[in-house]
Parts: sequence; structure tokens; C-alpha cells
Amino acid sequence: MMQAHLYGVPIHEYAPVDPPGCALCCYGFERLQRIDEPALEQCPACGAALRRMPGAPQVVSGEAHRLRESHLARHGFTQYRRTRKGHYEKTTGDGPDTIGDD
Ligand SMILES: [Zn+2]
Repeated sequence: MMQAHLYGVPIHEYAPVDPPGCALCCYGFERLQRIDEPALEQCPACGAALRRMPGAPQVVSGEAHRLRESHLARHGFTQYRRTRKGHYEKTTGDGPDTIGDD
């Protein structure tokens, strides 16, 4: 599988296999992931099985990423980034500040 990796990190889009999912995954959500990070298989919030949305991953620079986060927040999305294995920290939106198994 080819992935663009000029700079920054790719954004993967996920949606629940069996809708509706939860507040995080019901409309699909985006995750910034390192190129060597395995694809998510379960929603980090509700554990629903996820599928990767079709289409090539988008690659954004830091500035574009900030714009993207504000865009997401304006539309009521909550985005999380993984801080360590099994733990996620909110980057934008109205959801809980962190999710994971602390
Ligand atoms: Zn979910």
C-alpha cells in the first residue's frame, strides 16, 4: 500500500463497522498516526469495530493541522491523539479530556 509521506503525519479516517457507534465514532473520525503505527481496529472510546475510510491518507503540515483542528471543533467533532499505548488525549472538541485505561 502506498502512502504519501513527504512531511508531517498521515490522517486516517475511521468509521464504525456497525453504526451508530458512540459520540466519537458515529460520524466517523480522523486520527493522526505515525506511518509505522498500525491501523485502529476498535474505537478508543466505545470499543466498536472500525473500518478505515477509503481514500488515500492526507498529509498535513503543522499549520494545516491546526486549521483542521479548529475546523473540526467548529463542527462539533472531537479529535484525539494517542499519547501512549491505550491512552488518548483530546486535541479538540467537547468530549472527555482523555480516554484510555489509566
Ligand atoms: Zn465509538
